[in-house]
Amino acid sequence: MTLSSSDHTYLAANWSEVRRRVDDACRAAGRDPSEVVILPVSKTFGADVIRDAVALGLHRFGENKVQEIRDKAGPLADCGIEWVVIGHLQTNKAKDVARLASEVQSLDRLELAEALDHRLQAEGRMIDVLVQVKTSSEESKTGLAPEQLPAFLEQLRRFATLRVRGLMTLAVQSEDPAQVRACFCRLRELRDEAVGRGHDLPRLSMGMSGDFPLAIAEGATEVRIGTAIFGRRG
Ligand SMILES: *Cc1c(COP(=O)(O)O)cnc(C)c1O
Repeated sequence: MTLSSSDHTYLAANWSEVRRRVDDACRAAGRDPSEVVILPVSKTFGADVIRDAVALGLHRFGENKVQEIRDKAGPLADCGIEWVVIGHLQTNKAKDVARLASEVQSLDRLELAEALDHRLQAEGRMIDVLVQVKTSSEESKTGLAPEQLPAFLEQLRRFATLRVRGLMTLAVQSEDPAQVRACFCRLRELRDEAVGRGHDLPRLSMGMSGDFPLAIAEGATEVRIGTAIFGRRG
């Protein structure tokens, strides 16, 4: 812990509680806890809070706005953070992403892949990407339509700067666990089908603070956790 972290001691407690709940969900699903990575989602929280999370040993953070990564990357430049983009990404942000992000989990269209590839070539970098798939019929959800996934994965093969590692989704917001779980199940099935067509897609990013046990039961390799670690967003 850094000396300045006294305000954020709740972080250590939240973090170990989340890790314990993830481990429990793994065991309940007959899986090894080492199979599931937690991506802390730091959106809306400031550099001071993130610095205290770094002191706990965290070094990878999910953000849904590129502007927030820009604002935080400077003050946290000494922390060796890997910034992961998880929100809807406009093409005109590709340059900042190519410069600052280690990974994009919200790749959902060819135009964005082209823009990222162009900017990454200029930077001489490669990044990991996950394709975000829309697994619910909610209007508000972004992501690629499942039926477009096979063609999109083929198109992505030509971008040498984008290492396609898996799929990401947000489940429907519902009180009914069966509906939520169906979204996670769908993503796993889409991944398995793509693997059958010769794609290497080991990663499934699915599950958030409110629904991660269901995602782990359906095969998540990564859960994106904001509220349960950092508290409610203001
Ligand atoms: C905010 C966000 C999360 C984390 O949500 P919590 O419910 O706070 O855990 C996960 N994924 C995406 C894409 C998000 O925007």
